[in-house]
Amino acid sequence: DMADLEAKLKEARAAGARNIIIATDGAFSMDGYIGKIDQIRALADQYQALIMVDDCHATGFLGDKGKGSFAHCGVEVDFVTGTFGKALGGAMGGFICARSSVVELLKQRARPYLFSNALAPAVCGSSLEAIRIAAGEEGDKLRAQLFANAARFRSAMAAAGFDLLPGEHPIIPVMLGDAKLAQDMAARLLELGVYVIGFSFPVVPRGQARIRTQMSAAHTFEQIDAAVAAFTQAGKELGVI
Ligand SMILES: *Cc1c(COP(=O)(O)O)cnc(C)c1O
Repeated sequence: DMADLEAKLKEARAAGARNIIIATDGAFSMDGYIGKIDQIRALADQYQALIMVDDCHATGFLGDKGKGSFAHCGVEVDFVTGTFGKALGGAMGGFICARSSVVELLKQRARPYLFSNALAPAVCGSSLEAIRIAAGEEGDKLRAQLFANAARFRSAMAAAGFDLLPGEHPIIPVMLGDAKLAQDMAARLLELGVYVIGFSFPVVPRGQARIRTQMSAAHTFEQIDAAVAAFTQAGKELGVI
């Protein structure tokens, strides 16, 4: 809500704030909505604010070379946090990117960095390799496959009559409304060989229960089509479509 953000920035400036940071998700995990980082950038410039983006659901596949949501929106930001545990291949840990003065400060002040064990060398090694793959030509191929899979699932599910949230992110929520229906649907889909999770309140607003599907570059078109067929069967059985 850019109007609300601008009101908050005005309020902070009027109150004499020395520094202002706008914090946002780069992609919102329950909806698959991509943050309006370009519009946020424009407001940040206007009100001299810094921007922090949590890019856990964008690192590796959104934007040029999979840099993230800000690259997808064609702008730069001040701080990016990301995880090694999602698109980069299911390892653990994560990272913060920022200008070197900020990184130096965090090395002195960031609690997990100071007081926790470091990542295991094998995790660092595999994560570095995953970043190398994501940033290269192989990454471009995987991203093309990922977005082709997302487009295929999205159009087939819409044609089958399902209510999807609009967007282009490979997180594609299938809206069901009722919490029990979402659980029953997920259980039936598991019986049909498709593993999906139903989400309901308080993870999403009341009455907006859904099954959040996530496409992968590792899926084949055959598998995407099989998933749509299973959704269609379960959806008919449960009166969703
Ligand atoms: C998954 C996620 C995290 C946590 O990442 P971990 O590497 O599992 O700690 C943080 N923020 C967002 C928005 C996420 O989706």
